[in-house]
Amino acid sequence: MILPCYLNHICVTYSPVMSKQKRNLKGLTVPELQEFVESLGEKKYRARQMFSWLYGKRAQSFDEMTDISKDFRTLLHEAATVDNLKVAAKEVSERDGTVKFLFELSDGLKIESVLIPPEKTSPAAEKRLTLCVSTQVGCPLDCKFCATGTMGFLRNLTVGEIVDQVIQAQNRSPKRITNLVFMGMGEPMLNYENVMKSVEIIRAEDSFHIGARHITISTAGYADKIRQMADEGRTVKLALSLHSLDNAKRAELMPITKKYGVSELMDALNYYYKKTRNRPTFEYILFDGYNDTEQDAQLFIKISKRFPCKVNIIPFHSIEFTHPSGFAKTLKPSPRARVEQFVEQLRKADITVMVRSSAGEDINAACGQLAVEEENSRKGSRAVQSRKTEAAPITN
Ligand code: SF4
Repeated sequence: MILPCYLNHICVTYSPVMSKQKRNLKGLTVPELQEFVESLGEKKYRARQMFSWLYGKRAQSFDEMTDISKDFRTLLHEAATVDNLKVAAKEVSERDGTVKFLFELSDGLKIESVLIPPEKTSPAAEKRLTLCVSTQVGCPLDCKFCATGTMGFLRNLTVGEIVDQVIQAQNRSPKRITNLVFMGMGEPMLNYENVMKSVEIIRAEDSFHIGARHITISTAGYADKIRQMADEGRTVKLALSLHSLDNAKRAELMPITKKYGVSELMDALNYYYKKTRNRPTFEYILFDGYNDTEQDAQLFIKISKRFPCKVNIIPFHSIEFTHPSGFAKTLKPSPRARVEQFVEQLRKADITVMVRSSAGEDINAACGQLAVEEENSRKGSRAVQSRKTEAAPITN
């Protein structure tokens, strides 16, 4: 029956069957699945079965859940869905095997995840396979060295979309994903609830069973959320994308510093360390003549006396294709000799320093580069470079 509504629209009269939207079960926790199966008149234990199918066995549809009765599967088909990210593009580095996925979400937006192969430093390290996941589409924080920052913010990812990056990447990798870093597109602390829920799902024994010590959440500097993580006893690792300990310089590089200054961040990290006993990691890109001086290294040494920390020196991937202007245009990577001097200074002060290799440099594997190119392409920009892309999965 069709009736005119008060807003002069033509709408269909209320019908319980038609109004019921199918629920995407990917991203639900065990208690949420319990609630769902009970709403269908099923026993609670079904929830645990489904949890294991969704995440442990990475089922892409209800038809794969073979130990669930046909009747229940029919009921599931009527009431729910299992939404899967689509692989819109995939790039494989010929240099080091880094794999970059461009995933398409159900609303057509795109995000990136990067599978980073191990650095061959020890037999234990060689067993590692790290996935870098995104938490937002775009990012509102506008860090001057970051491709994603140039996109602006579109929306937060759902729990299902975060977890599905792991599922889809694992389905296409012959090796087990052992480590996760929340360092892809977006600021995880601005999507805190969904990120933490994803972590709990991924850690579960009948899911991916990735230990908290193998999961790192990286923030551009939300001091309040760092304290919240400490108060909630979160045992995952914490990294701060730092890039300068000089407040004015950092504010120029990362505008979030105007809200949470360097000293407030260091207070929050000190609080975090005292409560969790976890050493925070500082991510640091060395920019030529900007944050790579002896004085900059001295600031690190001073901080390390306050609480123990680790430093990751990250190579700067070019963002030239985003046509940076003003200050962003002046940022250039430090020369090798300067990197070595800087690292040496920190090591002499007993600070643990890792110098990261340029993983996937030949496929622009830095945060957001592929998605920005896609977005530019969508808008008809000339910025898209020709490159080797494949729409097919790597391997199963
Ligand atoms: S570096 Fe991270 S926080 Fe900064 S703009 Fe890029 S995605 Fe956002």
